[in-house]
Amino acid sequence: MNLLFRYLNHWTGPDPRRWAPMLAVYYLTYRCSFRCPYCSDGQGIPYYRLAPDELPGEQAAAVLAAIRKNCSYLVLTGGEPTLYEALPLVLEQAAKLRFRELIFTTNGYEITPVLPQIASAVTSLVFSLDTLDETKADAWHGYGVGSLRRILANIAEASALPGRRFQIVISSVVTPGNIEDLYSVYDYARQRGFLFAACPQLVGVKAHGDLAGSERYRRFYDFLISEKRGGAAIHGTALYLEHMRDIRKFRCHPLTMLVVSPLGEVFYPCLEQGKPAGNLLDEDDLEAIRARGRSLYGDPPNCDNRCHSACALGFGLIFEHPWSMASEAALQLRNALRGFGRPSVAEVTSSSCSNPTG
Ligand code: SF4
Ligand code: SF4
Repeated sequence: MNLLFRYLNHWTGPDPRRWAPMLAVYYLTYRCSFRCPYCSDGQGIPYYRLAPDELPGEQAAAVLAAIRKNCSYLVLTGGEPTLYEALPLVLEQAAKLRFRELIFTTNGYEITPVLPQIASAVTSLVFSLDTLDETKADAWHGYGVGSLRRILANIAEASALPGRRFQIVISSVVTPGNIEDLYSVYDYARQRGFLFAACPQLVGVKAHGDLAGSERYRRFYDFLISEKRGGAAIHGTALYLEHMRDIRKFRCHPLTMLVVSPLGEVFYPCLEQGKPAGNLLDEDDLEAIRARGRSLYGDPPNCDNRCHSACALGFGLIFEHPWSMASEAALQLRNALRGFGRPSVAEVTSSSCSNPTG
């Protein structure tokens, strides 16, 4: 089923007999060597504190094949996915499976050994970057002095890769402690032709309490909206950025995504609610997994949790305001024609799903 049919399937209200996700997110591992102060899963627990269990490479490759059978757009994330031992094998398998878009998120510290495999499989390489202040960044990473310098050197190496076809995304978490730093992070991305993405710090699924109503927070998003309207390469539509700025309510469509744990479990209806409904190693039939999810947990609620997860909001808006997707597609096409990069279907459809790893 192509993307348009999947979109229509969700738009008309998902067929209860069918689960046709538009984007899959596979957490290869929850492990991470960093200790970012905002790190949090949907329940408010830092990823590095979750169970470190993960699959051997062959089984992870089987999970990828099951995902591909059901979806053409994939995010590989963590934790820190470069810590996953069999990553080269997984990336080689992903390249063979020919995902139409493959987004890989990383803190950037250990990326260079896998750059050749990244180059052959990945369409968007997403680096987390929250400040250019070395002292602050190194303290936030909690991984010793020089971590920011190394990450910036690795980004430069990835950017200079001969024949590079993947785009680079700089993804920032907006916290009460780094808002003023983000103007220079944005400028860093802009000067190098990278896409810039910003998401508010979440505590569980909600934006940090000190952000909503903060004038500094609002001003930063106003700045991004104005840059976006001027054609800048910023992730998400203007409407999406306005929703992030105002921490606005939206209607969620959780079954637009297929979210898979490091052990191959499928979350129903979403990662945030954290309920496993089946394992792709045992069955790759999403309809059966969905039917089990419904019988265990009921139909997805018209959830009023007001998630501010980038993916949940991005998908919510393209169904409630489809015209915003059309204007984003037009903007991307215009940028592509100007030579700023190629239009990305995953970006148009998900608006922003760049920062599951923080
Ligand atoms: S708003 Fe959506 S993603 Fe968030 S908990 Fe509810 S259903 Fe899940
Ligand atoms: S936010 Fe990402 S990079 Fe930071 S500790 Fe968590 S998983 Fe690691």
